Amino acid sequence: MDARAAEAAIIATVLGLGAAADSGKFRQARTSSADAVVKSVCPYCAVGCGQNVYVSDGKVVQIEGDPDSPVSRGRLCPKGSASLQLTTGGSRQYTVRYRRPFGTKWEDLDLDTAMDMIADRVLAARRRGWQWEVDGDRTRRTLGFASLGGATLDNEENYLIKKLFTALGAIQIENQARI
Ligand code: SF4
Repeated sequence: MDARAAEAAIIATVLGLGAAADSGKFRQARTSSADAVVKSVCPYCAVGCGQNVYVSDGKVVQIEGDPDSPVSRGRLCPKGSASLQLTTGGSRQYTVRYRRPFGTKWEDLDLDTAMDMIADRVLAARRRGWQWEVDGDRTRRTLGFASLGGATLDNEENYLIKKLFTALGAIQIENQARI
């Protein structure tokens, strides 16, 4: 090896470009097979980091941090980086699961039926717990239900929940990001 080749080899090694740094494998970005990218928000905690969801043939193939997010600027913590497992993992449920009062097993419900059942229960609980006044003071509220949000709710969802529950007359509306 002449002096010039030796110098080039040393520079390549110092820069991490030498033979030892080359596995010989062809590398391809995990997102390269996607035909669409959808903007989303990490579902795990109230930080609300932005995500780019890569989709191929209608299926989620990768989830990366969104550089456009003013919250996270492309970063995700280890939990958020593993969001792909949440969407594609084998234990994910794709139907509404329902266990009747005194039931011993879970049943599948279609979404429309479940939504109607929830609406019926909300209206009934609101009516049952309604108070026009307390001790002569006008209250016009219901104690029939409360809202306790958890870690997966972001600011926008909490805003809408607060608006909805307040409009329904609820006064017990809370969020706890560690639940
Ligand atoms: S779990 Fe991690 S990535 Fe997800 S919103 Fe919270 S901090 Fe961001």
